[in-house]
Amino acid sequence: MPTTTTTIAQALARAQAQGLARIDAQMLLLHLLGRPVNDRAWLLTHDGDALAPHDGQRYTALCARRAGGEPVAYLTGQKEFWGLPLAVDARVLDPRPDTETLVAWALEVLQNQHAPRIADLGTGSGAIALALQHERRDASVLAVDASADALAVARANAERLGLPVRLQHGNWLASITGPFDAIVSNPPYIPAQDPHLAALTHEPLSALASGADGLADIRAIIAQAPRALAPGGWLLIEHGWDQAPAVQALLRAAGLAQVQGRNDLAGIARCSGGSMPVGLSPSVK
Ligand code: GLN
Repeated sequence: MPTTTTTIAQALARAQAQGLARIDAQMLLLHLLGRPVNDRAWLLTHDGDALAPHDGQRYTALCARRAGGEPVAYLTGQKEFWGLPLAVDARVLDPRPDTETLVAWALEVLQNQHAPRIADLGTGSGAIALALQHERRDASVLAVDASADALAVARANAERLGLPVRLQHGNWLASITGPFDAIVSNPPYIPAQDPHLAALTHEPLSALASGADGLADIRAIIAQAPRALAPGGWLLIEHGWDQAPAVQALLRAAGLAQVQGRNDLAGIARCSGGSMPVGLSPSVK
């Protein structure tokens, strides 16, 4: 039977038949129609509405890109992180909800610290730095990235959200002195030969892969952090699902105390950290 129009319900069903998750199909259609991407109730109440033919074609094209592995966040140009609407694109890692674990932990270690000094290494879209600045207006937050492209994305987010995060171009702590009460980072941590990378080809490889064992950048950060931490300051790092023992051993070897971890929402040991001993100079191991 020839059909001349496509309804919203039919378009969503087709997208799912193309292999899209229901939530992805809904967010992409809302984006296309210029509606808030979380307004899924609108789709339900309009499921019999006809899509303009032009919109139907654009939707099919968007769904094909999603089926090819492009993150929904790149296709809609936005991602919510810690309740903040961030603008994101292929210049930066698509912020993951897992990383909110790192934000929550940083807020916890800083809760009794007045006007904390914070560094976010490898800030990407600015997600972690902006979430911390949003929660702690008294904090001085420095966001660092080796990618000028990423810094442009982070700067635009900071300006749009009106958050006074400072941005600096650099390689981890190489050009930064501190001291900081917290250094936080979601660095690249996937082993260079990991088959998981094949599913992430649309995101910057420099934000994902880190040497043969995935720990090259984490090693660099842990080596540099002690001289930049205030006494009692914390280094908190996100890492891969099986890296907690290795990262915690590196933290201990660098002389950090209270070494421990935090699980993400899926129950995976996602972050590890330690604090700078009070009363010891950074050179004392
Ligand atoms: N957690 C991401 C993933 O495995 C990787 C993020 C990162 O390397 N920092 O998909």
